[in-house]
Amino acid sequence: MNRIVIAGNGPAGHRLAELLRTRAPRAAVTVLGAEAEPAYNRVLLPSVISGKLSPEQTYLAGHEGGAVTVRRGAAVTGIDRERRTVRTADGLLHPYDELVLATGARCFLPPLPGLTGADGEPADGVVALRTLADCRRLEDLLPRAGSIVVLGGGVLGLEVARALGDRGHAVDVVHMGPHVMERQLDAPAGRTLAAVLERLGIRIHTGRAAASRTGGRLLLDDGSALPADLVVVSAGVQPNTELARAAGLRVGRGIVVDDHMRTSDPRIHALGDCAEHAGLVPGLIAPAWEQAETLAEALTGGDRPYTATRTVTRLKARDVDLAVIGDGNHALPGAEVVTLADPARGQYARLALRDERIVGAILLGFPASVAAVSQLYDAGAPTPVDRLALLAGRAVAARTDAPGDLPAEAVVCRCNNVTKRALVAGWRAGARTPEALARTTRASTGCGSCAGAVDGICRWLSAAREAADASAVPAGEAFAPAAPPRQEQQPLPELLTR
Ligand SMILES: Cc1cc2nc3c(=O)[nH]c(=O)nc-3n(C[C@H](O)[C@H](O)[C@H](O)COP(=O)(O)OP(=O)(O)OC[C@H]3O[C@@H](n4cnc5c(N)ncnc54)[C@H](O)[C@@H]3O)c2cc1C
Repeated sequence: MNRIVIAGNGPAGHRLAELLRTRAPRAAVTVLGAEAEPAYNRVLLPSVISGKLSPEQTYLAGHEGGAVTVRRGAAVTGIDRERRTVRTADGLLHPYDELVLATGARCFLPPLPGLTGADGEPADGVVALRTLADCRRLEDLLPRAGSIVVLGGGVLGLEVARALGDRGHAVDVVHMGPHVMERQLDAPAGRTLAAVLERLGIRIHTGRAAASRTGGRLLLDDGSALPADLVVVSAGVQPNTELARAAGLRVGRGIVVDDHMRTSDPRIHALGDCAEHAGLVPGLIAPAWEQAETLAEALTGGDRPYTATRTVTRLKARDVDLAVIGDGNHALPGAEVVTLADPARGQYARLALRDERIVGAILLGFPASVAAVSQLYDAGAPTPVDRLALLAGRAVAARTDAPGDLPAEAVVCRCNNVTKRALVAGWRAGARTPEALARTTRASTGCGSCAGAVDGICRWLSAAREAADASAVPAGEAFAPAAPPRQEQQPLPELLTR
């Protein structure tokens, strides 16, 4: 029997085990996870902080009915490549035929006085947010936290700031870069976003770095200070590569893998936030899950290579509508750029086009156009001649509640790459509620921002079925209309996820 050991029980390791459970039922799959918790969806942690979800609601479904063994609280401490065993912290040895490193990443903690203790861990009153245990620690500190500083104005820092603001806390964000989210946004978009957040009560300080924390105050590099009963650090992540490095595997920023997620040792594979593919460590859930698909196939005799995932970054913050599609910020040589800005109303849009096709977009305050722009990007289809109409959400037919007009290949859940076609197939196979569709197709189980769209498709199918029953038209004909020409198609709102 093929023994497959997976080190790491995060979303990537969990998804791989789940795929192997069904595709390689004769393999003995062992997942060794450092955390004591069952596998959970880390993406949902901001919703735990805002109080929208309980920790248990982030748990990923267990591996029922297969030969998967999960050992929790079992950190892998070493790999013996010659004997093909891994050792866990309790001293046990686990033999493998194939080893998968899914050890993810951890928060980067700037080593500043008052921020970290002698052991390099967060000091009292400081939280770096990566795990459910971190959320619990934050929860314990919140009642005593009159003033909160979030260190880092990237996507996660801003989401956490908004979640804490939602709970009535005064929040300052300190960000070293010239503007917030500079990895994804150009300067005008960053400034407009900061103004939107300021209007929502979050104070943004850009171009400032923390110097130290003392007596409940955070000192900044310009000599100023902010009250900081609590500091939440969101200053980037570091892939967990130590095991691989100690075992002599090739490591760059992450554990270097080829198109089949193989490391420099063909018996050892890596995926998710710890893996570096084509020089990139995406640090996002959709690539991690797509890599799990690739690796499950490779481990069961398939040969589908992984190519970079097309990413869409969405800020999960109440009353802020921001989507970054593809290379939002990057200077794209030779690209035609279309911008539309109304900073006073918190709106900024930027489309980068090459050969009439979208290669990147920033959409802040343009919710009506996000789905259409992302569909054009996904399909690599030419944009309508009237780009401003596209940005204004008018380049599509007037019906706004018509999932039926969505192309079958439109990706509804980006985290799990679930198309409308797959949802319709799931519904026809008997999954008649959004929850059942989530179970059978996995749509909406990633960051959850497509839940409204899945619900809309479910309602549309149910209504079509009822109408078909009422008029005695064969159901298949009633709810499978031919797709109209692309430019007349009305996309669903909320189609995108980060
Ligand atoms: C608060 C937050 C919000 C996020 N929001 C989004 C979002 O909206 N969209 C998005 O795409 N991405 C988001 N991300 C990123 C996303 O969560 C990651 O891309 C995803 O979790 C990667 O999964 P992974 O399994 O590769 O790594 P991880 O989730 O890091 O899991 C790795 C697991 O391996 C374990 N491990 C580490 N070392 C060992 C060892 N030696 N032995 C055994 N186990 C070990 C760790 O304890 C952990 O449980 C967010 C991340 C955070 C922290």
